[in-house]
Amino acid sequence: MDIEQFRREGYKAIDAICDYYAGLEQRPVVAQVEPGYLAKLVPDQAPLKGEPFNAIAADFQRLILPGITSWQHPSFFAYFPSNATFEGMLADLYASSVTNPGFNWACSPACTELESVVMDWAAKLLGLGEAFWVQGGLGGGVIQTSASDSALVAIVAARSAYLRAHPDVSPSDLVIYGTTQTHSLGAKAALILGLNFRALDVHPTFQYGLRGSTLQKAILEDKDTGKHPFVLVATLGTTSTGAIDRMPEIGPIVQEAGLWMHVDAAWAGVALSCPEFRDRSFLKYINEFADSFCTNFHKWGLTNFDLSAMWVRDRTQLTDALDVTPAFLRTKQSDAGMVIDYRNWQLSLGRKFRSIKLWFVLRSYGIEGLQTHIRKSIALATLFADFVGDSSLFELCTPQSFALAVFRLYPKGIASMLKQDELNSLNRALFQKIAARSDITLTQTDLLGTFCLRFAVGAQRTEERHIRKAWEIISAAGVETWAEWQA
Ligand code: PLP
Repeated sequence: MDIEQFRREGYKAIDAICDYYAGLEQRPVVAQVEPGYLAKLVPDQAPLKGEPFNAIAADFQRLILPGITSWQHPSFFAYFPSNATFEGMLADLYASSVTNPGFNWACSPACTELESVVMDWAAKLLGLGEAFWVQGGLGGGVIQTSASDSALVAIVAARSAYLRAHPDVSPSDLVIYGTTQTHSLGAKAALILGLNFRALDVHPTFQYGLRGSTLQKAILEDKDTGKHPFVLVATLGTTSTGAIDRMPEIGPIVQEAGLWMHVDAAWAGVALSCPEFRDRSFLKYINEFADSFCTNFHKWGLTNFDLSAMWVRDRTQLTDALDVTPAFLRTKQSDAGMVIDYRNWQLSLGRKFRSIKLWFVLRSYGIEGLQTHIRKSIALATLFADFVGDSSLFELCTPQSFALAVFRLYPKGIASMLKQDELNSLNRALFQKIAARSDITLTQTDLLGTFCLRFAVGAQRTEERHIRKAWEIISAAGVETWAEWQA
C-alpha cells in the first residue's frame, strides 16, 4: 500500500467505523455466531499472493463484525464496561504510525516522557498523593497491559524486596493474601511465581470486603506455621459486587506486619476522579498505606483497551526487581541516571506507545468530561437499583456499588420459604432466558453460594431509556420465569 492508497483506504475505514457507530443501537449486542464459525469461512492458510485491500476491508464487515460483541452498545451491561472513544481510536492510529518498541527513553524520548507526564496527571486526577508522582515523589506511574500484569509486577517487586531483606527465606514459604472476592489475578500471580495464595474470608455484613481482624488472624496463623506473608492484594471494587476492602482497618496491619499492599482498583479506581466517591473508597488510607495501586482506564475510563495504569510508592522497588541490562540495551542517558527506561518497570522489554491515548482522552474530555461520564453511569445504575428495590419480585443482593447493581429474582413473601438451591435454580433459569436474547447482555456471579445477576452500567452511549428498556426486559423475564417455576 502506498501513501495515496493509504489515504484513500484510511478515509474509507473511518467512514466504515462511523457507520458502525451510527448503527450501533440497531445491531445485536451479543455476537450471534456459533463456535468455529470463522474457520469455515476463511481459507486454511495465508494467500500466496497479496490481495486487494478493498477485499480485505470488505471481509472485516462480512466476516469479523458479525462475530463481534458490541461492548460499546448502550444495552451492554455485562462484566464491566470496556470503553472506547474516538479520541482513543485516533490516538491508537497516531501511535501505530510511529510504531517503536519504547523500552528505553532513547527508543523515542516522547513516548517515555509523555507517559511520565500523563501518569502524573492521572494520579492527580484520582487524588493519589505526591508520593506516587514522578515529579515530586519517589514513586511514579507506568502503563501496563492489564490489571493482572500490574498485580504481577507489584508482586514481583514485593517478593524481590522481601527476599533481599530476608535472604534465608525460601520463596516456597511466601504467602500472597487476597480474599475469596479477589480477582483471579492474585491466584494467577501465585501460580506464575510458584508462591502461595491464601483467599481470606469476607463477610456479607461488610459488603464482602476484607476486615482487619481476618487479616490479623491469618498473619498470626501463617507465621506460626513458618510461612511468610509478604503481600496483600486489596481490592477497591471487586468484580462480583464492587466490594471495597476495609482499608482503614487493614492499612495499619499491613504496615505493622511489613506486607506490601497492592490495591487492585481495576474497575472502580477511575471513580476517584469524582471527589464525592473518595471517602467511601478509603482514598486517604490508600494514600497512607498502599505500596502500589492500579486502575484500568480501559474499563470505565473512556480509554480504548489497553491502558492499565499502575503506580508505585517507590519506583526503585520496580527497578531493583526488574532491571536486567545487557550491553546492547545500555544508553548514555540511562548510564547517567537521567531518564526512565520503562522496560525496568514491567515484565516485557518492548511496549506500546499507550500514553498518547490517555493524553488525548484527558485533554479532549477534560477532568469534567470524565467526571460527567462516571456520575452519569452511577446515576443510571441507581435508577436500575431503584427499580429492583421497588419490585416485589426482585431484590438487590448487595447495596449498589458505584455503577454496579447485583440482584436476583426473589418473590417477596414466598422466597424466604425456598431453599438456597431452589432460589439458585430459579435465578439460573432467569439468567438463561436473558442470556438467550441479543438485545441486552449482563453476566452472573456466585456470591458465597448465592447465584446472582450483575448489572454494570458504563458504556458511554447508555441513556435512561436503555435502563428502562433493560428493566422492562428483565422484569418481564422474571415474571415469566416465576410463573414457569410455579406451574
Ligand atoms: N480486577 C478487577 C476488580 C476486575 O474487575 C478485573 C476485570 O474485570 C480485573 C482485575 C482483571 O483485569 P485485567 O483483564 O486488566 O487483568
